[in-house]
Amino acid sequence: MAEQIGSASNPLRVAIFGSGPAGFYAVGELLRQKDITVTVDLFDRLPTPYGLVRGGVAPDHQKIKAVIRQYEKIANRPGFRFFGNVTFGEDLLLADVLAHYHQVLFSTGAESDRQLGIPGEGLTGSDPATIFVGWYNGHPDYRDLKYDLSNVERVAVIGNGNVAMDVARILARSIEELSKTDIADYALEALKKSAVREIYLLGRRGPAQAVFTNPEIRELSDMPITDLVVEPKDLELDELNQEFLDNVTEPVHQRNMEILNAQIPKGEGTRQRKIRARFFVSPVEIYGTGRVEGMKLEKNRLMKDDAGTPRARGTGEYEELPNIQMVFRSIGYKGHPLKDVPFDDRSGIIPNDTGRVIDPENKVPVERLYVAGWIKRGPSGVVGTNKPDAVETVGLMFEDLQKGQVPNNIQTDEEAVPALLAQKGVRYVSFDDWKFLDQIEVETGKKIGKPREKMTTVEEMLATLDTRDAGERQAAS
Ligand code: NAP
Repeated sequence: MAEQIGSASNPLRVAIFGSGPAGFYAVGELLRQKDITVTVDLFDRLPTPYGLVRGGVAPDHQKIKAVIRQYEKIANRPGFRFFGNVTFGEDLLLADVLAHYHQVLFSTGAESDRQLGIPGEGLTGSDPATIFVGWYNGHPDYRDLKYDLSNVERVAVIGNGNVAMDVARILARSIEELSKTDIADYALEALKKSAVREIYLLGRRGPAQAVFTNPEIRELSDMPITDLVVEPKDLELDELNQEFLDNVTEPVHQRNMEILNAQIPKGEGTRQRKIRARFFVSPVEIYGTGRVEGMKLEKNRLMKDDAGTPRARGTGEYEELPNIQMVFRSIGYKGHPLKDVPFDDRSGIIPNDTGRVIDPENKVPVERLYVAGWIKRGPSGVVGTNKPDAVETVGLMFEDLQKGQVPNNIQTDEEAVPALLAQKGVRYVSFDDWKFLDQIEVETGKKIGKPREKMTTVEEMLATLDTRDAGERQAAS
């Protein structure tokens, strides 16, 4: 009979899929324990760790990216291993994972986008913001897209969340500003040729309900080459809006209103580019012959839903937004299903009860499977929100271990999974491998005044490691 699970000779073996913030916070919590020994293998389908901190957080927000230092400390703890370039459901199946780990946690985030469901959404020039974000951040999935901004003068960004803010800001920044960030090299080149003059930010509800946060809207209000232009009538508060502001508990909404109101005296401003924040409008059609040429918007008014939340309702009154060459739909992310794991397509998450995966048929927990982050709760909150979220899930994992809901008959040889991957021909990337790539990126960036110059293809990353390995072998022979 094997030793008790969690003892030094029989550690609790956990596999985590998805190495973004939720994955790393879960590792941190698992490896923080004093009275229970845990080992964690953290997998990612990319060779690089950190998920949206690398591929989503805007390149001009380096302070947010500094959270990586915390994750590096976590990765140094005994019991941690990283396996990059390993895809769940292809390189490792659920059955493989359950045979080698006591518990499995998915923190795969929300990699798809939501659809508007309006005519013209699929025209050339109309893209989900998620794709544009991945492109300028050098995400291997999107690095081959071509954005020719040299003929684009007017862009519309649909949505009033922080991703919409990021997209608008990247389009509004000067090349001097962008060239000091870790934006992908090809994106910097495309933005150098940008002819963008006007960026429309389209919110379906009012400025009081906007979900962008104060620093993000404040940043747009103070940019070297771009003015934030608001329409004073959008900021007038009717009874419903005043009541909303009086009753919201978080001051973020009042502060947003103050920041936007402070723009009114500046009018059109004098800078060469304009971000035009429009509220109470919903796109009902994107039109053009083959590619985007303009949009039709419906004016909205607010009405309370059954819970008393103000929602946008169309008025039947329309307006044209002509001469638009590019549209970014920034209306939220959505999770991807994983092979053999329950998935709720409507909400885009893995069905769960505060972190325990739930079988949608019989509504009972699926033993040994857990979730954390956006695939658990949907795409909400900031990077740090994932810490309490992951801690909550890890608490349940320990609770289930104590309740004896973990089988003590798994394959505990820690070389078994690397051997399985090698047998399948998967070139996995260890944390040391990643640190080697990281160092090259930082050194290359330093030479041109950037925090890092990202490698943007998996091929380049693996070839760089192969060259290093070949050199080491030669030196040893
Ligand atoms: P989000 O915050 O949920 O915002 C989605 C926006 O899309 C909302 O304005 C929403 O309007 C709008 N929308 C949804 N469906 C729509 C439709 N059919 N037509 C028109 N508009 C529609 O999503 P996100 O911007 O993708 O951000 C995801 C999360 O990441 C958020 O928690 C965000 O704060 C976070 N994030 C943070 C940062 C940062 O800290 N700097 C940066 C990026 C992202 P309603 O409000 O009316 O639903």
